[in-house]
Amino acid sequence: MEYASLINNINSFVEESPLNRVETLGIDKIFNQPLVGVAAAEDSLFKQFKDPSVIGEDHLSPTEWLPGAKSVLTYFLPFSEEIRHANRKPGLPAQEWLYGRVEGQQFIEALNGKIMDRIKTDSTGQAVAPATDPRFEWSEDLSSNWSERHVAYTAGLGTFSLSRSLITAEGCAGRYGSVITTLEFAPTKRSYTGPFEYCNFCGECADRCPARAIKAVEGEKKAGMDRSICKNYLDTKIRPRFKPRYGCGKCQTAVQCEQEIPGKA
Ligand code: SF4
Ligand code: SF4
Repeated sequence: MEYASLINNINSFVEESPLNRVETLGIDKIFNQPLVGVAAAEDSLFKQFKDPSVIGEDHLSPTEWLPGAKSVLTYFLPFSEEIRHANRKPGLPAQEWLYGRVEGQQFIEALNGKIMDRIKTDSTGQAVAPATDPRFEWSEDLSSNWSERHVAYTAGLGTFSLSRSLITAEGCAGRYGSVITTLEFAPTKRSYTGPFEYCNFCGECADRCPARAIKAVEGEKKAGMDRSICKNYLDTKIRPRFKPRYGCGKCQTAVQCEQEIPGKA
């Protein structure tokens, strides 16, 4: 199967699928066109992710998810201007963001299904989307056995940040997805040398966080978001109030890295 043809399918689905709209709020588009990358299933970074100082032993490699895997197709879907703009106000999450987070997840699941169907029907390839696979799980330490951000980093889509988002050429406000396949596609280049290269540690995300979950440490360039504080805020203040939706994303909007790689501080 031609890689370019698969990318055309993905782009058409994003453009045309009614799942990428929220009619009740008059949102024409949840996501803009995606950035797509490929990681080699045998990339040495997947071994490094098993180190407890990175993610841990529970993080499964592509070949553990799918024996014979050759490639991982990964994508970043930037939220549309309508959704990002609505969430730039401080405080509680905008309705638009909450729909983008939850209905957006349904769109991602449909897109993964579309990619897997295309691979299976047009070729002899096999495909698995870990995020929707029954083996997908979260650990007590709030890490999962498949990190979309780490996969996107491996495929050259972007680097990590103080807020634990991944900053891409289209910013950090958006969602990720991936499909592992036995088809061999050429890996995309990582044009950075370090895991935090695109973050300038300006601290704007820390100032925006209503839960004070992000700590900017002057002069120390390291990820400073405490996942347990963020999760506790979502579980106690957001989910009960906005059920069945949830989300926050204040650290991804009205910040320098919202829709581009920020300049150096
Ligand atoms: S707001 Fe600043 S510190 Fe926070 S992730 Fe973006 S660039 Fe990094
Ligand atoms: S999602 Fe909200 S609570 Fe969690 S770190 Fe970002 S701004 Fe803070």
